[in-house]
Amino acid sequence: MRVHDSLTELMGNTPLVRLRKVTEGLAPQVLAKVEYFNPGGSVKDRIALRMIEAAEASGQLRPGGTIVEPTSGNTGVGLAIVAAERGYRCVFVCPDKVAQDKIDVLRAYGAEVVVCPTAVPPDHPDSYYSVSDRLAAEIPGAWKPDQYSNPNNPRSHYETTGPEIWEQTEGRITHFVAGIGTGGTISGTGRYLKEVSGGRVKVIGADPEGSVYSGGTGRPYLVEGVGEDIWPATYDRDICDEVIAISDRESFTMTRRLAREEALLVGGSCGMAVVAALRVAERAGPDDVIVVLLPDGGRGYLSKIFNDDWMASYGFLSAPTEEAKVREVL
Ligand code: PMP
Repeated sequence: MRVHDSLTELMGNTPLVRLRKVTEGLAPQVLAKVEYFNPGGSVKDRIALRMIEAAEASGQLRPGGTIVEPTSGNTGVGLAIVAAERGYRCVFVCPDKVAQDKIDVLRAYGAEVVVCPTAVPPDHPDSYYSVSDRLAAEIPGAWKPDQYSNPNNPRSHYETTGPEIWEQTEGRITHFVAGIGTGGTISGTGRYLKEVSGGRVKVIGADPEGSVYSGGTGRPYLVEGVGEDIWPATYDRDICDEVIAISDRESFTMTRRLAREEALLVGGSCGMAVVAALRVAERAGPDDVIVVLLPDGGRGYLSKIFNDDWMASYGFLSAPTEEAKVREVL
């Protein structure tokens, strides 16, 4: 029988899909690494599995232990899946800008979720960093993976995402484009691709306007899961050949186009990464192969990016959509 004993066997090995419409008129191939094919629906399954297995091996996480982590949702889902399979308790801490749907998903997997204000500095006692530190210290048997400093975060990408992309493109990749949150994806994947290609592959970061990676001060932006107001240890500051700043408006407009034109229902950081990939494509040649990583699916954003009223409330809908026009006629 063709059966998997564990969902964790299905983490990674995601497909590479050619973008065909949003790339019209551009010479290079632009290929999307579609991470929503992971069982938890995002790229973060990869790091969750690697971090838990390393903590089990080192004795930091013992049977019956509790996983405490500040997470915007996706890392939580990956951790919750492995935890549900292996009998660990999960307590997650989220900033309040995270979509309610994402929090509900974590709770559905049996995790406890504490929601903290976004608009406080990281060292404030109510920040989601501080609250998770306090919980990790107070709960007996607690282990905090800390995706912002855990070397197994970038390592998981060095060991899986990078080699997959190299094999899938038969070594023809010339540019790798990804958003930067913890920096684990771009640092681990980027390092592998640079090493295996002898430095030929260029690594380009995509960053929300206002975030520190593209020279911002940490001012707020709406796209979730990417950008930072501090520099995490998981980000290798030497890995990017270039970091491109993208506005919320551009990110969300492209996210909606990806659903309608490419049938890829993905999250806002995917739209952001694709905008950056297309900028790279505009100045690349016909033999170039640009791989852009799409971290998660779009179902967690239906009430935001895919909701016309929400988009309009931020002034992101410049022209009425076809549905709005039809509604008006009716
Ligand atoms: N997009 C989304 C939706 C995410 O949740 C994350 C992870 N924070 C990223 C992009 C960025 O990935 P990384 O943390 O590996 O830089």
